[in-house]
Amino acid sequence: MLAAVLHAPGHPLALEQRPEPVAAGTQRVLDVRAAGVCHSDVHMVDGRIGGPLPRVLGHEIAGRLAGIGDVLVYPGWSDGTCEYCLRGLEQLCTAVAEPGWAVDGGFAERLLVPHPRFLFPLGGLDPVRAAPLADAGVTAYRAVRRLLPWLVDRASVLVIGAGGVGQFVLQYLRLFANPRIAVLEPRERQRRRALESGADQAGAPDEPVPKADVVLDLVGTDATLSKALDRLRPTGALAILGEGGGRIRLGFDSIPPEAHIFSSLWGTIEDLRAVLDLAQRGEIDWNVETAPLSEVNEALDRVRSGAVDGRIVLVP
Ligand SMILES: [Zn+2]
Repeated sequence: MLAAVLHAPGHPLALEQRPEPVAAGTQRVLDVRAAGVCHSDVHMVDGRIGGPLPRVLGHEIAGRLAGIGDVLVYPGWSDGTCEYCLRGLEQLCTAVAEPGWAVDGGFAERLLVPHPRFLFPLGGLDPVRAAPLADAGVTAYRAVRRLLPWLVDRASVLVIGAGGVGQFVLQYLRLFANPRIAVLEPRERQRRRALESGADQAGAPDEPVPKADVVLDLVGTDATLSKALDRLRPTGALAILGEGGGRIRLGFDSIPPEAHIFSSLWGTIEDLRAVLDLAQRGEIDWNVETAPLSEVNEALDRVRSGAVDGRIVLVP
């Protein structure tokens, strides 16, 4: 089967023929129908983050399972037995093996899935459209749900970055709360879409924005983290989702009084069920463009350069 493999950071993915996966025990082999390209894939290719190599990348995967039909892959492949799994936090499992990271992922024609409990019927959703729900859709959902205690009344929200995850964040903020939303985003087209998706204002990163009760940093560089902290109000909450490798100084005097700062990592199985339900009921919408798997490196370049409006999805 054709697969796109990362052999070494800083090099393009190699398109190569690999042996067909063979299922044993609880495993299933999925015909991949779509795999989203995430900014974290770019970070892996660039060597900023990542697991053992060589690796077939791709963690936003939808596919077809013989006898079942089209399914979405929950990517927190957990053991189901550790303390975090028992708390329903499968994405934090101490033995988690994410496809496209710790084990081979979906930039391929077939995917070996360890257990059918990680597969969720699409219920009529187009797999190409559904693939980004497995990360962008569910990561945004979990972060906004965790921020609900701060999203009371007409709370003010600052969203930094309005790309693949941002498009979902804005819709969940509107669905679950009634905040005033400002967006900082360098790309003009994405700013325009942010306004259509529910932002009250959208400006370039250097434009002034009011301080906010809730800040979501979807980029995570030094510059965005420092902006996020600077614009956070006392008692407010800052959620860091972007894996841009940035750092902020943490100390009693360097954060607003009684502020809450946390990361939000992917989502639980229950989070993914909720997102699929919202998508199946047509309550959320999102932008997808497609590219053939053979053009994976061009797709990664487009994500790296910020040319993608929403998500780009590879089709084998
Ligand atoms: Zn576990």
